[in-house]
Amino acid sequence: MVTTSNNSLICLGIESTAHTFGIAIATSQGQIVVNINSTYTSQKGQGIHPREAAQHHSEVAPKILKQVIQQTSLPLSQIDVIAFSSGPGLGPVLRTGASMARALALQLEIPLVPIHHAIGHIEIASLFTGARDPLVQLVSGGHTSIIAFGQGYWRIYGETQDITLGNLLDVFARTAGLPFPGGKAIEALARKGKNLIDLPYVVKGNDVSYSGLLTATKLQLNKGVALEDLCYSLQEVAFAMLTEATERALVQTERSELLITGGVAANKRLQTMLQEVCREHGATLHIVPLLYSGDCGAQIAWTGILAYQNGLQVSVEESIVQPKWRFDKIHVPWR
Ligand code: AMP
Ligand code: MG
Repeated sequence: MVTTSNNSLICLGIESTAHTFGIAIATSQGQIVVNINSTYTSQKGQGIHPREAAQHHSEVAPKILKQVIQQTSLPLSQIDVIAFSSGPGLGPVLRTGASMARALALQLEIPLVPIHHAIGHIEIASLFTGARDPLVQLVSGGHTSIIAFGQGYWRIYGETQDITLGNLLDVFARTAGLPFPGGKAIEALARKGKNLIDLPYVVKGNDVSYSGLLTATKLQLNKGVALEDLCYSLQEVAFAMLTEATERALVQTERSELLITGGVAANKRLQTMLQEVCREHGATLHIVPLLYSGDCGAQIAWTGILAYQNGLQVSVEESIVQPKWRFDKIHVPWR
């Protein structure tokens, strides 16, 4: 049951940028009342296919909406705002979520708020950890960025020069015949690995480059090196690269908090490496709760509250999806 005071806001948020379709309801008191998500997975050895993912999303969308209503006993008429992930992401899946959001906003005659997916990852992590002005390491399928907030915008201090960390793990997993998304399976196999295989470590300033590492790891797999050892070595090298870049940014930005968010933030080995850096620099490590680390409706619903409270909304006619939307171009009035 949703308990709200007279001046509280209720936002229904829809996530639909990549593999996950999700709907959540958040209140302006920072409650996530319900958060239901369904992730498109593929068979061993296959990655994400945008049209198939869109098909999955349009099949689960009405079922999830129904579950959301049943679980909260909340009449749709009590919802004040609809938020949706308007980018970045895959065109076909973005359009699936946006269509549902527009239909709900029209039907209920309430405002529509477009949310940048990455900002959603940061805000949901901030809500649950209490991080105030952290250096953020955003590690997901779509992003590998080291950022800090300053004068109205998220500023990029380091990022990947090619593929993301999530992509590196997922593509290697696919090559090795593991299911998609592959990060969790790689983490489990890595625990059984014992031998550190020599793989390319590429850090340029505060940036990392993962494509050479992917090619080299695939080559070793083809040569017959044990998968456990490769998963272990891939994690050690990829995470150490990003940890080095993050440490440098932590010193440059003089932040006393480090926040990690996004799907890969669930990884215990990455967490341990970053904990070590934080200890050395007297900083506090904040880790997004596992439940909210990967893509979810909650990140959109909660950021929808923040955005709407700060006057951001779009008319249905002018609402668009933005597959290549960069978050360092967005003015964030609530920070
Ligand atoms: P997101 O785009 O935020 O949903 O994050 C998805 C990414 O997180 C995918 O690349 C997954 O393989 C990755 N991921 C999920 N769990 C883990 C884990 N335990 N270790 C490493 N990567 C993970
Ligand atoms: Mg994401």
